[in-house]
Amino acid sequence: MDSIRTIGVVGAGTMGHGIAQVAAQSGYQVTLVDAVPAALERGRAQIGKGLERLVAKGKLAAGDRDQALGRLTTGGDLAALAGADLVVEAVVEREDVKRGVLSELDRVCPARTILATNTSSISITRLAASTSRPEKVIGMHFMNPVPVMQLVEVIRGLATSQETWDAVEAASRKMGKTPVEVHDAPGFVSNRVLMPMINEAIFCLYEGVGKAEAIDEVMKLGMNHPMGPLALADLIGLDVCLDILRVLQQGFGDPKYRPCPLLVKMVDAGRLGRKSGRGFYEYGEGK
Ligand code: NAD
Repeated sequence: MDSIRTIGVVGAGTMGHGIAQVAAQSGYQVTLVDAVPAALERGRAQIGKGLERLVAKGKLAAGDRDQALGRLTTGGDLAALAGADLVVEAVVEREDVKRGVLSELDRVCPARTILATNTSSISITRLAASTSRPEKVIGMHFMNPVPVMQLVEVIRGLATSQETWDAVEAASRKMGKTPVEVHDAPGFVSNRVLMPMINEAIFCLYEGVGKAEAIDEVMKLGMNHPMGPLALADLIGLDVCLDILRVLQQGFGDPKYRPCPLLVKMVDAGRLGRKSGRGFYEYGEGK
């Protein structure tokens, strides 16, 4: 099945620019949209840098880089996505914002367009209900950093059709990813397992059980994790982690998902991890 030729991506942040890069590299025509002009600029620059790194490592020919960049356009308005076969929204992890974006996409895109969401935890079924095409709404949960990570967790909402699933599975494979099918529940599988671990690591820091470096070393050396949970939280974004924990807490009504007060405080202070230059660790320019 190759019904998808053009892909729209909404949100040019950590995830959106990575999804746009991989899609453009895989031969799709890509339009990347962000409501904030500076974010769009930054996303475009990061795609350029990402492709450049691959060329420097000998993993991508300079000509292929130029072609990938030639397939990428950017815009500030969702109306630019009116011709897309598949749109992946990767805006902030807030249900009201995602619902607004999806209902607007539903208005501007033709009936054939599949609307995928990169949400980490919000109900696909509920997001789908903000459109008039719930059978064409699906979760397409890429991992960070998108160009490197193999998995796409593909989440079926209650109404998602087999045709939609097949098209998204084929597109994921064409992007060099391995789609894994899961069903709709708060946090799906990935974040239902990952976020309680990250939260517990933050509680360890909060309660003085260990320093950040020590907590991460235990998990790296003892559990063979390639990255410690606090460094991983910095990579994901502390605001994203907090939003996901709140979705789990609300969705299950179980206090075990209560976000650590230290996480809340750090987000309040604007220490969001790598993207703000400081989280559990400090990041200088270019790190
Ligand atoms: P981010 O904050 O880096 O980027 C979000 C972008 O969306 C920003 O550039 C913002 O300007 C833009 N935006 C916000 N509202 C918009 C709107 N109405 N229209 C257009 N653009 C808008 O966030 P992120 O880390 O890239 O996360 C995006 C999504 O991906 C979230 O749903 C998150 O849960 C999910 N996700 C994140 C990770 C991760 O590791 N960061 C991993 C998997 C999934």
